[in-house]
Amino acid sequence: MVYKKFLKVFFSVSLFFFTQPLPAFNPDFDRGVDIRSAVEESRKIESEFAYAEDERENPVWISVSDTDLAGLGNEFDFTSRQPLAHGNTVSVFKVKESELDELSDIMNRRFHKSAGFFAHTSFESALKDIIAPPAAMAGAFTIDRPDVVKPMLQMVSEENISDIITKLSAYKNRYYRSETGVSSARWLAGYWKELVKDRADVSVALHRHASWPQESVILTVKGSANPEQVAVLGGHFDSIAGWGSSDPVAPGADDNASGIAALTEAIRVMVKAGYKPKITLKFIAYAAEEVGLRGSREIADAFKKEGVAVQGVIQLDMANYKGSADDIYLIADHTNAAQNAFLGKLIETYTNYRWGETKCGYACSDHASWTANGFIASFPFEAKMGEDNPNIHSAKDTLAQTGGHSKHAFKFANLAVAYLVEMGK
Ligand SMILES: [Zn+2]
Repeated sequence: MVYKKFLKVFFSVSLFFFTQPLPAFNPDFDRGVDIRSAVEESRKIESEFAYAEDERENPVWISVSDTDLAGLGNEFDFTSRQPLAHGNTVSVFKVKESELDELSDIMNRRFHKSAGFFAHTSFESALKDIIAPPAAMAGAFTIDRPDVVKPMLQMVSEENISDIITKLSAYKNRYYRSETGVSSARWLAGYWKELVKDRADVSVALHRHASWPQESVILTVKGSANPEQVAVLGGHFDSIAGWGSSDPVAPGADDNASGIAALTEAIRVMVKAGYKPKITLKFIAYAAEEVGLRGSREIADAFKKEGVAVQGVIQLDMANYKGSADDIYLIADHTNAAQNAFLGKLIETYTNYRWGETKCGYACSDHASWTANGFIASFPFEAKMGEDNPNIHSAKDTLAQTGGHSKHAFKFANLAVAYLVEMGK
């Protein structure tokens, strides 16, 4: 029943979307990035994906933890659905792609999780989730580059972080299927390109996904000595607010312009310091996290398939709301204990921040896509789970709501800088 209503709303919204003049973009774009071409390009891509109503009825297979299933009760009609496969702690269901937004909304309201589930485009792919992921290889983590790290930390600027958050959240949304979802990704790619334009060892690429228009953005710094080894610093780029609209008001300032802004500042500092890593660094802004970690899962699956020697992954997702006593909370479940300890030591060595631990459950952010593939992944988070930003996934997730500054995200940019140097050696 709910679903019928959803269809109606969706149909009228998409009708509106395709018959009205395109919405105005008025973020304050400067710094020489050509936003006009980004917008034109986004229209082209979006029209390629100009899906008819029934196309959005494509089946998608989701994996959900049994703990969350029990807590969902009757919401999302799970009681009348039979799982197609069931493992020790995870079940696989078939849903319609258009239902992903609703499930994401329920997960956020009930458990304050986003996404809280994996969405796959094939049943075979989802089946992998019902068995325990392969154990991550042992990582070797050392801290011995204060000569490089300390001067770089002096260059981190809170103002730059606020600037990027402001620009990204000026888009009506960065929804994975909307035109602004595409053009904002294109803008970020242009911005990153501009930052690294004088570096021959750095490239920026858009990663196309087959099932939706929003691309992921990948910046690669080629390692000078061991380029086959890779460290990944990532965060999702998309935003969402509720469900039933293909063009919601979703500024996503904390979730997750803040993480992307902290990473962008780390890139800027790396370039300004002339830092060249010995191993390859990849900065990734993932598409389509809010609807089942789809962008990061495709990318992490591809890395696994290609046998990329990933040394470690960190995820920044929500960095600018200080909801708890300590500064940085390391997510302790579905992450790598050795790398978590390393991050704790980095914080103690290079900052005076206090760190704690918290848990976020199954598939709560993109780190889980890497963990599922047996890679070393960690997730430094803004607060104790449950004390994090209450305004996410709504029109209220603005920079103003976190005080109009980026004092908290600044700490995560510092951690990212320390991480990239100590990993890059
Ligand atoms: Zn998020």
